[in-house]
Amino acid sequence: MMADIFLILTEGADGLEERLCPFTEEINIVRNGKAKNYKVQLKFGISTIKKNEREVSIKTYLDQSTVARKSIKGNAMRYVAVYDDQMDQEIKHQMWVELRMEPALRNGEFHVFYQPKYNLSHGGICGAEALVRWITPDGDMVPPFKFIPIFEENGFVVDLDFYVYEEVLKNMVRWRQQNKKPITISVNVSRIHISTGDFLERLNGLAEKYGIDKSLFELELTESVLGEEQKQIPVFVKACKEAGYQVSIDDFGSGYSSLNLLKDLPVDILKIDKEFLDEIEGSERSSIIVEQVVEMARRIKIGTLCEGVETDKQAEFLKAIGCDMAQGYLFSRPVNRESFEAMLS
Ligand code: C2E
Ligand code: MG
Ligand code: MG
Repeated sequence: MMADIFLILTEGADGLEERLCPFTEEINIVRNGKAKNYKVQLKFGISTIKKNEREVSIKTYLDQSTVARKSIKGNAMRYVAVYDDQMDQEIKHQMWVELRMEPALRNGEFHVFYQPKYNLSHGGICGAEALVRWITPDGDMVPPFKFIPIFEENGFVVDLDFYVYEEVLKNMVRWRQQNKKPITISVNVSRIHISTGDFLERLNGLAEKYGIDKSLFELELTESVLGEEQKQIPVFVKACKEAGYQVSIDDFGSGYSSLNLLKDLPVDILKIDKEFLDEIEGSERSSIIVEQVVEMARRIKIGTLCEGVETDKQAEFLKAIGCDMAQGYLFSRPVNRESFEAMLS
């Protein structure tokens, strides 16, 4: 096909995996005359031509086998993948998303919802997280996990996030005009922004345009991104802080580098991951860990918020151990602007 990619057209799908194994052996026998210090491993993506599908173009099958082969990437122990219905659905969904994303942004199909954050000592709303929702013209709500990863891959998340930030800033102006008590609103910052180079310049431009106090605007960076070995990350976080924004670590505890992050990054808030909280009831170890994380954060003067609080018991536990804030279905789901304004009132 090209470079090191070959095409095999063969009959009969039975025992195909076993039939493919010898290719890897053969290729290593052929190569052995040259260099013996490494082994070549073939990876196979398979697409099956069904009897009643003979009219379909061969290109379709090539695309399908490529998708199957690429699905093996990153898994050293898997050599064969067969294109299946699930991959088919994913491809169709991805095509739909990529075709619709730009018109959807122009037509206002992306909406900003707000999930309130509660102060655990006095029980009032002390802030909110802005979460994007895609509502299609026929009223379907597409959840973020179905499009954010695709947008992160194709770069569209930059436009979407800035749209979300601007909507939030406009609403903050609105609430100020309505004489509502100022509260901090947090937004999610995709990994992609870290390497664009002009994130802060653009964001500062917006904050100044709307005259919003930057300390009321909080940037949530997820732990999985912050934990990556990238030199730009501490620089990025420091620059956000110096510009005057609040910075929080989202999904804290879900990765492997949690403690190093605290040591190195000047953040304001830890958002403790829901997974942690889910385990406190059955596991004494988990509750001790959450308690100690909260205590440690308090001593190094970082605020704490627990995400995904769903039961009274969890909220009572968090209050007892001195966690500052909570966010979760127990208090409220993410709601649209109108409902959130009613809550603020
Ligand atoms: P996240 O930032 O960690 O947001 C919290 C997620 O937990 C939200 O899901 C929220 O609806 C959900 N949640 C809140 N309370 C509870 C609870 O009590 N129980 C359970 N089971 N879930 C709860 P959502 O809105 O589906 O967002 C998922 C993720 O998508 C977010 O995780 C965030 O990483 C990303 N995301 C959402 N909006 C945006 C955006 O505007 N830009 C970017 N870049 N990412 C976004
Ligand atoms: Mg978040
Ligand atoms: Mg989170």
